[in-house]
Amino acid sequence: MNPDAEAPVLVELAGVRKSFRRGGETLPVLEGLSLRVRRGEFFALMGPSGSGKSTLLHLIAGLDRPDAGAIRVGGVEITALSEAELTAWRARRVGFVFQFYHLIPVLTALENVELPLLLTGLDRRRRRAHAELALELVGLADRRGHTPARLSGGQQQRVAIARAIVTDPPLVVADEPTGDLDRSSAGEILDLLEGLCTNLGKTILLVTHDPRAARRAHTVRALDKGVLTDAREALDPQCR
Ligand code: ADP
Ligand code: MG
Repeated sequence: MNPDAEAPVLVELAGVRKSFRRGGETLPVLEGLSLRVRRGEFFALMGPSGSGKSTLLHLIAGLDRPDAGAIRVGGVEITALSEAELTAWRARRVGFVFQFYHLIPVLTALENVELPLLLTGLDRRRRRAHAELALELVGLADRRGHTPARLSGGQQQRVAIARAIVTDPPLVVADEPTGDLDRSSAGEILDLLEGLCTNLGKTILLVTHDPRAARRAHTVRALDKGVLTDAREALDPQCR
């Protein structure tokens, strides 16, 4: 299903382990997980609640660290970076889209999109230009001055996608981005993510429960009890 099986590997995990401590107990979540995602691939991850999907995305995006194993993204072993190096890496190399948007309520759409650029050293004029371009890409240039409360859920998620791509990262990670949206807004978000992949060559890592979302992906895997399996056959073949 991957349109370019020769594309270089962008994300590579080897033997990744992660557990959490809860009370006096250790809860193993990932127990030696390995995974490869190619540049330009649209990769969907499914699996039951609590199976570790968000944990896996956080590790790949450098928001958390594994207990063991290696994670390479774009040739950088992020597990070997210092905190400062990891922060700098994240600012440029990965965009994160959350289920509940996580926009700052007192900032306008444009200011929200501009935020990640404050970590990049671009001057104000360039920051504005990049933020405006990203808002245009998600079709919301005309809402630039609106605060999140004046936008629908679907529009807020489009602003969040603009924020995720404003630094032009090769990798966009989305954790159930359509989970809180009606069917038609969800469709628009999926169109956008698919477009980032096909038109801009972004690598998309999407966690979803929506079979319609997974059907658009090149690769579909399910995470269950710490193991990744091919989930394509679980989808209705009629609708692929
Ligand atoms: P999913 O996204 O697949 O629903 P998560 O990755 O959020 O699963 O969580 C996997 C398991 O790890 C769950 O049992 C969850 O309660 C636990 N967990 C996740 N994050 C933490 C944390 N920071 N501290 C303690 N337990 C956590
Ligand atoms: Mg989750």
